[in-house]
Amino acid sequence: MILEKKNDMEHVNQGICIILSAPSGGGKTSIIRELMSRLPILKHSISYTTRSVRSDKEDGKDYHFVTEDTFRKMVENGEFLEWAVVHGKFYGTSKHDLMVLLDNGYDVILDIDIQGSRNMRKAFQKGVHIFVMPPSMEVLENRLRSRGSENEEDLKKRLENARNEMVAYWEYDYVVINSNLESAVETIKSIVIAERARADRFETVFKRIFEKGDI
Ligand code: 5GP
Repeated sequence: MILEKKNDMEHVNQGICIILSAPSGGGKTSIIRELMSRLPILKHSISYTTRSVRSDKEDGKDYHFVTEDTFRKMVENGEFLEWAVVHGKFYGTSKHDLMVLLDNGYDVILDIDIQGSRNMRKAFQKGVHIFVMPPSMEVLENRLRSRGSENEEDLKKRLENARNEMVAYWEYDYVVINSNLESAVETIKSIVIAERARADRFETVFKRIFEKGDI
């Protein structure tokens, strides 16, 4: 992956790793799309998965679709920073892909489940963990039904998983209620901007100020 190095003041440090979780149907895809259009240096981490291709997901853009055999080999080779089985399929974050982006100063958003968030706490302590909460179970169920991509059995499984994930909201650094896309996006955007200004991220900038007299 070839990326242009960012030289402006905000990005002399490693980028911010944002871990975003929400139950299935919680609106993550729309939120991430909007965030990326409003935060130009934000990139989406493309997970590897063994799930079947859905019409709204593009290979190489939304996911890297791989066989179970390939996924297992990647696990054996230690290529994943975190991986998990979600709804019976494998999903994982490539360590190499993520680190290339962060080291080039890009902020990266990971759309991963709660197991992924927990594993990222161990594998990469500097992440910012955000949980997107639906305003009610009813709204969540309606969103899932209107998507129409799951059969009744899958839908029930996703709703049950949603309940289990939602009770663990307190493990995250921030919780954003998605009753309205615009306000959810603006809240998360504010979190990212605030995180960029954290004092503990300014060591490199600080050194430059003293060494060169400017940044
Ligand atoms: P979907 O197949 O509906 O796009 O995603 C199903 C679930 O898998 C979502 O909760 C999503 O956040 C999660 N997921 C996607 N990629 C990853 C990943 O790389 N790691 C983990 N742990 N979960 C993932």
